[in-house]
Amino acid sequence: MTCPLCINNEGNKKNTHYFTDKIIRSCLNLDGGNARETGFYFDLSNDTAFVEFNFQRETSIEKLEETLGRGATDQEIEQAKKIPFSVDYVFCTDCEAIFTEIEEAFIENILPKLRNAEIHEYASLEFEEIKIIRLFFYIQVWRTAVCEESFKLSRDTFEKLRLIILNHKTITEEQVKEFPLSISYMETLGGEKAYTSNFVGFTSDRNPNLIIMNDFVIQFHESIEHVKFFDFYNLNDEHFIEFANYKEEVFKVRILHDAERKAFLRAMVREEKVKVTLSFYEEKFKELWFKLFSVNPSSALSQEFINVIAKEQDSVLSHTRENIMRLTTEFISEKLKL
Ligand SMILES: [Zn+2]
Repeated sequence: MTCPLCINNEGNKKNTHYFTDKIIRSCLNLDGGNARETGFYFDLSNDTAFVEFNFQRETSIEKLEETLGRGATDQEIEQAKKIPFSVDYVFCTDCEAIFTEIEEAFIENILPKLRNAEIHEYASLEFEEIKIIRLFFYIQVWRTAVCEESFKLSRDTFEKLRLIILNHKTITEEQVKEFPLSISYMETLGGEKAYTSNFVGFTSDRNPNLIIMNDFVIQFHESIEHVKFFDFYNLNDEHFIEFANYKEEVFKVRILHDAERKAFLRAMVREEKVKVTLSFYEEKFKELWFKLFSVNPSSALSQEFINVIAKEQDSVLSHTRENIMRLTTEFISEKLKL
């Protein structure tokens, strides 16, 4: 294919990471390490979110199966062999060099002020290196839009970002500030292993476009009109507008301290699991209803069923099989009485 950045050369480059390797490496534990639970990442992109496990490349099939508690499917094995968040033959060598230059500027100038830095006293940090920061996060957002079908930008935004990245050397600071951009940095304490409890993934519902890259969370808005409070497991608080950098004098980064990071991750995992579990029950309910009555239940009815299951929020994840069967039977008998 033609490289989507320069729209000129053939995409000849193998192994282009669309999330900067240096940032996500410690989360995915690509350097090895033998902690059993490490090296996973999640895809938050599809509607039912979260169930798609992926595995670090070096994970042996035995280890993969041991972790799954079952045999691995061909697809999972294929997935396990891939380098996470990287693509082959999409970008060209020249454009890869542009990405590298932008990444190196960030890694050299900004990263040391956040990762492993003494930041526990600060609720936020301000940076004058606006262009370096914005370019770095723009390439994550833009490359994800190129490489992930479910991560979408408007045509106009996509093209504007492309030109900003392509002309990054000559573009002015003013030109680079037109998109509202929030960055949260999650302080990660406890050494290298602690990073493996972080996540890499993105959401696809837009407004904002959200990407989690290990200890960084990106919220990208296509325009200032789109910036409004976005409730995402306490990622934002009442000061959210201050952190949506837009035509800023200095770039503000919100700091989530280690305890907040853990609370954020816990809440996210829990909620995502609840979503997946409920959608699983809904599917099963629909199948059963169809078997019994040869018609699909209305969506209102399915929703009513899910409300019954979800009524005790805390127990959604701990329903036993018997419990679900009982609730389902009761629900259907109740409906038949009407
Ligand atoms: Zn190119």
